[in-house]
Amino acid sequence: MAVNLQIPEVEPREQRLGSVISFHGTASECYDKCRDKGLHMRDRSFSQNGGCSSSTAFTTDCSVRDVAVVLHAPIGCAGDFGVQSYNLTLGSAARGLPVHNLWAICTNLSERDTVYGAADKLRDALREAYTRFNPKLIFLHTSCVSGIIGEDIESIAEEVEEELGVIIAPVYCEGFRSKIWSTGFDATAHAIMRKVAKPVAQKSDNIINVFNFQGSHTFNAILGKLGLVPRYLFPFATVEDLENMPDALATTHICETLGTYVSAALEEEYGVPEIKAPTPYGLEWTDRWLREIARVTGREHLVEDVIASEHERIEPQLQELRSFLSGKTVYVLAGDSYVHSIVSCCRSFGMKIAGGTSYHHDQVYDNDYGEVNSLGNMIHITGDVQEYTICNKQPYEFISLLRDAHPDIAILRHNQISTVVNKLGIPSFMISDPNQIIAYDGLIEFGKRVAETIQSGRLVKNIARHTRFPYTEWWLSKNDPFYYERGEANG
Ligand code: SF4
Repeated sequence: MAVNLQIPEVEPREQRLGSVISFHGTASECYDKCRDKGLHMRDRSFSQNGGCSSSTAFTTDCSVRDVAVVLHAPIGCAGDFGVQSYNLTLGSAARGLPVHNLWAICTNLSERDTVYGAADKLRDALREAYTRFNPKLIFLHTSCVSGIIGEDIESIAEEVEEELGVIIAPVYCEGFRSKIWSTGFDATAHAIMRKVAKPVAQKSDNIINVFNFQGSHTFNAILGKLGLVPRYLFPFATVEDLENMPDALATTHICETLGTYVSAALEEEYGVPEIKAPTPYGLEWTDRWLREIARVTGREHLVEDVIASEHERIEPQLQELRSFLSGKTVYVLAGDSYVHSIVSCCRSFGMKIAGGTSYHHDQVYDNDYGEVNSLGNMIHITGDVQEYTICNKQPYEFISLLRDAHPDIAILRHNQISTVVNKLGIPSFMISDPNQIIAYDGLIEFGKRVAETIQSGRLVKNIARHTRFPYTEWWLSKNDPFYYERGEANG
């Protein structure tokens, strides 16, 4: 078991989970190799872009209500303040919450600070955040620079916390510590588990923790059928929600990549069971997820009727969509587990998987239950994927992969990639809110969007005719997307 809340920093995924950023083969080959952590970190000698744990951590915690974030970093690391402010205001308005800009401050570390340290600057920034925003909690984010200069974050946080009387939770998310940007999810979860979550005197009899991004409240309806109430975490949760996480009947999530570290921590520290089932994407996965929730919460007497009536309700639309989508080819690109979830949805409509690319892969999870292994669930419940790759978002690689596969549609989770895919003349559906396609109603919604997107094929073919990629003929005619893969970097 890898969860250790006694130490301030979560161990990066490479070390904890044997995570990798490169593989090509079949999904089952990947799965077989992972069973004894047989994949090794392979770097690339050419990289067009990358991600950062700091940014991922920020996405996860900056929209918790009544919190401020102090980022101890050069100003360039605050490049995502703008987009997160936009998400916060939009998400707050959609939920009928008070709308305000992001409560975040960057210490703007300078070259001089890297020589002499910037402890006073950090103290001042924490005080300023407290005075300006009056938050109930301050997340203190680190960066590459604060890590390299060895700033004593723990001591400063404790000192200012005592002075101001507000919780200060350090989030250790230096970008250089991990090649896997999802380590940032764990950094936030670790900070919250260590500094905010509290033992509770009494367990709830109906609350389920649901870890998600800033998604819509689609879990209300499906969990409500079993008399359960979702507590959405972390975005837009209250500080009290974070404190009370241990009182829940169980923990579930929309994605193993996002939710399994915090689920394991809640199970180990507070005995909150992690739901041992696939996520509710696609017909069969949703059935299994509901049955497991019912088993854990003592609602088994209700669940079969719910499943039967939901199947009956969606059957006409499901059949109509199947008659259009069955046999259509799809390429899926997304974060690790989310690829498997999208494949599950596609196969519920009889679509053919032309290929799948995930941006990294965790060979194990913190609670290494077979039932939450999304790659295993994809293979064993829905079938193998012959063209399966792991690529950390390098456009030059996935352009080659997509040109070879030439699917009827590509389904993705990131809008920048959607733009690149459209330029190849391939229609793309970008899932901006994963909550919208959960369970039975979500599956129908997914099918409708996919069908609409395929029907927009002429538009993207026009776009492709007027697009030139910045790649040389040498690269475009090369039949080896993995040309720049290096040998084993470590492990
Ligand atoms: S990788 Fe380091 S320097 Fe770059 S944004 Fe992330 S924390 Fe800042």
